[in-house]
Amino acid sequence: MFASLSPEKTDLGTMDAESLWHPLVQHKSFSQKPPKCMTRGVGCYVTDTNGIEYFDGISGLWCVNVGYGRQELAEVAYEQMVDLAYFPLTMSHEPGIRLAHKLLELLGYEGKVFFSTSGSEANETAFKIARQYHAQTAPAGSGPRYKIISRYRGYHGHTMGALSATAQAERKLKYEPLVPGFLHVSPPYYYRFGDGQPEDVYNAACLRELEQTILYEGAESVAAVIVEPIISGGGVIVPPEGYLRGVREICDRTGILLIYDEVVNGFGRTGKMFGHQHWGVEPDIISFAKGLTSGYMPLSATVVKQFIFEAFLDDPGSDSHFRHVTTYGGTPVCTAVSLRSIEILERENLCERAAEMGDYLLGKLQRLLEHPNVGDVRGKGLLLGVELVKDKASKTPLDSDAVASVTKYCMDKQMIIGRNTNTIPGFTNVLILAPPLVMSREDADRLADTLCDAVFALSSS
Ligand code: PMP
Repeated sequence: MFASLSPEKTDLGTMDAESLWHPLVQHKSFSQKPPKCMTRGVGCYVTDTNGIEYFDGISGLWCVNVGYGRQELAEVAYEQMVDLAYFPLTMSHEPGIRLAHKLLELLGYEGKVFFSTSGSEANETAFKIARQYHAQTAPAGSGPRYKIISRYRGYHGHTMGALSATAQAERKLKYEPLVPGFLHVSPPYYYRFGDGQPEDVYNAACLRELEQTILYEGAESVAAVIVEPIISGGGVIVPPEGYLRGVREICDRTGILLIYDEVVNGFGRTGKMFGHQHWGVEPDIISFAKGLTSGYMPLSATVVKQFIFEAFLDDPGSDSHFRHVTTYGGTPVCTAVSLRSIEILERENLCERAAEMGDYLLGKLQRLLEHPNVGDVRGKGLLLGVELVKDKASKTPLDSDAVASVTKYCMDKQMIIGRNTNTIPGFTNVLILAPPLVMSREDADRLADTLCDAVFALSSS
């Protein structure tokens, strides 16, 4: 009852139950036990109000790439807050300039960087840029190129446009109808849909579906294709060799812009600075968030190649500029922290470390395949997934309750692991590991052992 609220309350569990609406959870699950309330973090570990330490195998929401408790990030934030806490990028400020420069230097091409605060906004920004780019470059008399094509199982955010690009039915059904003009095609999900074909044949079929969809829709109505190089929340789906190159070629043939959503993939997560660098295929537009600041500040970026930016250039007073602004996009504090977080990634060789630790962990997890409910173990760098099935022949996804029992087992051993939050029976069920990139070999051993124990505690179901 609201009247019971009092600022003097010290029982955080009661106060939580009285006031907080938590994302993605059924609140009745807290009726017996409130959610764990964290107070501190160091490296890969977080500590709750009872002093219990947990290994965070999912880096918060796969964002704390440099690990928790980085004093220097706090100092940079403090110093920048004292100097200039806020100023919009309708004018300019030094950390914003330096970060934009740094991102282009890392990407290795000429372009421009637009800052926002979340991954969803970075993608909304990308969609609006793509539409306006086409509107300003289309031959006279042509209709608008406005459609956006994404892949099933891709996740691109929670806002209405980004959710429309997200193609995970379980996240969308309650909020439809969404924004018109968003279409989906199959991702190269070989484990589930390869049906024993040679991988290159299956890969070619996925690419053909994309090209066919574009032809059926009319290429002249399509603005962009958006893909996560490695699908993350949709179940850690790694594309085969040649796939991204194929998508690039289709976009080039049809005049469609290619957007990479690197919100999870970026900043070392997959063992390279950017996920797409595994395949050497460049996009036209790229979205970053999460690892951009390692979760220390809310910041995202949409980076475009220079030819796109040039379509927005005209005489002062013309209407061709990008009519889009977000109050908190690229504040001095957020950009200063991001610069330092990237400096840490480079100084401590955390991309290489993620690659090495990822290979090690993936190797250790192979023994899970001996269990009848483990269909596949896959991933790149420290972005790993374990797909759970009822049986290996049918590949029917394991029931959500059984999957939840695995994550609970791990939690009881003070080990936080992720899973795709799936409540619709029949949808893919994948456990997800994405620990901070500073993870040690001992941590990797413990993570693998705990997860194996948790899975082997499942009776075959
Ligand atoms: N894209 C991807 C690939 C994501 O995983 C997410 C968030 N999990 C987003 C976009 C949206 O980011 P945000 O939650 O910061 O809006």
